[in-house]
Amino acid sequence: MKILNFTAVEILPALLNENKNQTIRPAWKKPEFARGICINGSPKYDSNGGNPIIEKLPRFSVSEKITLMWNQRSPHKVFCSNCGGPFLKCRCEKRGIALSFRKELGKSVITEVFKIEIGRDTEALKPYWVNIGKILQQADFVEDLPKKDGFRTSGHMFEWFNERYNLTRPKPFWVYRWRWL
Ligand SMILES: [Zn+2]
Repeated sequence: MKILNFTAVEILPALLNENKNQTIRPAWKKPEFARGICINGSPKYDSNGGNPIIEKLPRFSVSEKITLMWNQRSPHKVFCSNCGGPFLKCRCEKRGIALSFRKELGKSVITEVFKIEIGRDTEALKPYWVNIGKILQQADFVEDLPKKDGFRTSGHMFEWFNERYNLTRPKPFWVYRWRWL
């Protein structure tokens, strides 16, 4: 069974109470070059002639059963529900009220897979936009994505993605949705 791994503490509460039923993952990877030749696919260049990307196929398909995990690569097996760190080493001040959880969060079945594009228009007052299908939407009006993803607000979600992926260069993402088993 394939594993879907999480490390972002922003969405941890929604993972733990199983309100989160979606994740948005890059639909691209960075090209690797050897002697000037790309060795992991055929790179595509955006309209600005900017950074090349390699398109990625979706990792999961509809009806597939998967295991959801927290911090899969960590040697620890029990984590703090407050800060997401290893429970035994946790120094978070709220330790008194924090609970622990096991790294295997549960199993789920994939219910939807689709591709979106997210970008940021630096000159706009409300800079983020999402392209779902062929419909371009201003991020403010996209309520479904942040909610299902477990972010507190649309703003939190887009800022988080921009910090991690630099959306000034628009990028494709796979959206996976699931039902907890
Ligand atoms: Zn903690």
